[in-house]
Amino acid sequence: MHSQVQKRTCSLIAVSAIAGLAVAMVPATAEEAPTPGVPKNIILLISDGAGYNQFDLANLYEAGVSYNQVTVDPATGAIAHADRTPTQIYEEWPVQVGQSHYSANGRGFYDTDAAWGSFDWVASGATDSAAAGTALGTGIKTNNGTLGFDPNGDRLLTLGEQAQAVDKAVGLVTSVPFNHATPAGFIAHNANRNDYHGLATEIIDSGVDVVIGAGHPNYTDANTSRSSHFGNGSWISQADFERLANGQTPFTYIESKSQFEAVANGEFVPEKLFGLARVAETFQYNRPGLANNNVLPFNDPANTDVPSLETASKAALNVLGQDEDGFFLMIEGGAVDWAGHANQTTRAVEEQLDFNNSIEAVADWVETNSSWDETLVIVTADHETGYLAGVGAGAATGWKPLEGNAGELPNVTWHSGGHTNAIVPVFAKGAGSEILANRATNWDKVRGAYVDNTDIGEVVFDLLGHAQTEAENAVDINANFGNDAVTGALSLAVDSTGPVVLASNGSGLAGELPATTVVDTRNDAQAQGNGWTLSGLASEFTAGNRAFASDALAWTPRIVASENGAAAGSTATLEAPAVLATSDRTSRVGSTSVLADLLLTIPADAKAGNYGSELTLSLFAQD
Ligand SMILES: [Zn+2]
Repeated sequence: MHSQVQKRTCSLIAVSAIAGLAVAMVPATAEEAPTPGVPKNIILLISDGAGYNQFDLANLYEAGVSYNQVTVDPATGAIAHADRTPTQIYEEWPVQVGQSHYSANGRGFYDTDAAWGSFDWVASGATDSAAAGTALGTGIKTNNGTLGFDPNGDRLLTLGEQAQAVDKAVGLVTSVPFNHATPAGFIAHNANRNDYHGLATEIIDSGVDVVIGAGHPNYTDANTSRSSHFGNGSWISQADFERLANGQTPFTYIESKSQFEAVANGEFVPEKLFGLARVAETFQYNRPGLANNNVLPFNDPANTDVPSLETASKAALNVLGQDEDGFFLMIEGGAVDWAGHANQTTRAVEEQLDFNNSIEAVADWVETNSSWDETLVIVTADHETGYLAGVGAGAATGWKPLEGNAGELPNVTWHSGGHTNAIVPVFAKGAGSEILANRATNWDKVRGAYVDNTDIGEVVFDLLGHAQTEAENAVDINANFGNDAVTGALSLAVDSTGPVVLASNGSGLAGELPATTVVDTRNDAQAQGNGWTLSGLASEFTAGNRAFASDALAWTPRIVASENGAAAGSTATLEAPAVLATSDRTSRVGSTSVLADLLLTIPADAKAGNYGSELTLSLFAQD
């Protein structure tokens, strides 16, 4: 809500009277669907670089069964789905859809016929993790390499910031550096994803409650100590590391595995936590033995003084769960992507298994400390990396299923060292999950219904209650009289204690402006022979980072009470200042009360959601 002072006269009399009010809009589809629950807590788990086949890679190793396997012949278009055998808890969840994730300056679209008509189509023009993290974290597509800005360079509101605005705690957890692109996409703003020192500073100062990840200056990838590394290729500056380690930030700082476990076990739960694991880049992925691509997972000795992603997730939940207003938590399995870039099958399995364990820890937390009625959990990826496929797959033969036995390394082929445009899976359960399912309005001929990555960001924005935030923080009336000598005044009062909620009336959404009163007690000299004009102007209707124009909002003013016959303005849309009421020199005196019927026309392309707008009323002493 904004308050402002506007005068058009040169009067020496101090006349300051302006009020604003917030206008909230209920979901456009409210009359068609039961009102779904709004979650108190939202947990988003992202396996970076995991397509359907990376999820099944872990399933095959763990249980010898798969859930997503297909044979597709691009020449004939024949599609055959293998048996779907769920082994993971999320494979039983009610919402299971796909997700497209193209960036603004990559290929720029996903086309199911092209994607399954030529084996090579998805292999080029893919998103990077910064654009994908921004899309998931803001609901807006941007260019590769960019975090928290749109392609025009306009700063975007992130889900982390929005969660903070509604008093929820915020946590970011990853198994790669804490300021890598995916976690950064939920809180940070930087035109260059590789400005790691800048991103570290922004994240540390962002006011979030939990940060956990790798990126320690004093440890190698093998979890052994080294002399501090703050130079080229380092993740954090000396100044930022020292203020964290010395307790000069709001965070309680931890780094040893036992400290992580103490928080995860609930023995020690600080108010805010920064956990910097004792490794350079990854919890486990980069440890020695990376060249051993054909050994079984966990054959190479693990880094011992490093938490698992599962432990880090439990620690984050314990800290965030203390907030009575709830929380938003992003957990990234960051190194599935690194394994995909290196076509490293063994460690892709390891990383996906730790990600799965983290999902189980989250589900356990929900069922023990919360409930599915108050917590939403979404599991997805940001893109696929490595173009993982079955044996025999290729341009001539098309897609072949991954196969393998429990306890053995699946036989697979990799067809890229980079990211692909292949659709990735989404699983969701809990309060509000059906809203996400309803956004799956696109259809892939193999994977079925799918959302875009921006839909996930938009749905979380909606569930975080953008409109309500504006109203809660609003100051309804601001009337300021700065001169004690003034004996008369022109003032405006709005009888409003909260947002105006517009509800369906069959043809659109309708509501009523709160009673608005102009009081003019100026004498003739003070008024300089003038009357007044009361006008209004609405801002755009927004929900998160999406909007539709305020020209959809119209009002029909009417005078409720006037001693002297002030006139109501005409029916008008409110994208430009529109007159609510006017007076001339004789009708100005006394108290004039006006109301207005508000009517919102919903644009055909508007997406469902809780949109908020602001209507500013301005009172002018008139020439
Ligand atoms: Zn990624």
